[in-house]
Amino acid sequence: MTTQCNATRHGTLTAYTVDGCRCPDAVETKRAYAREWAANRRACGTTAARGVDELAVDLAVAGHPMALRPVERTAAVAQLDRYDLKDWQRAERLGVSRRTILRHRAARRNQQAA
Ligand SMILES: [Zn+2]
Repeated sequence: MTTQCNATRHGTLTAYTVDGCRCPDAVETKRAYAREWAANRRACGTTAARGVDELAVDLAVAGHPMALRPVERTAAVAQLDRYDLKDWQRAERLGVSRRTILRHRAARRNQQAA
């Protein structure tokens, strides 16, 4: 069976997460990132002791299902807001509802205004 792959740049994490590229290189790249993330997680100790887990945020923004803490989710939404995406696309990327995206943005605006 041949699967049509529309990714423009095969084998990259972005191709995997955004374009749905499942070429062997892309799969391996994704696995490498997951391993790196897991290793980083172990090296860092408990999540409570740290601030924002930047790598988790980056991976979430790249489309990996990540268990983000609220502060990290806020950072992820802020990062996604810089991308030229529709809100539903941002929501899909983070695995949250569109309303969550709007809620975070409103909270950020209120914070900046205060
Ligand atoms: Zn591909």
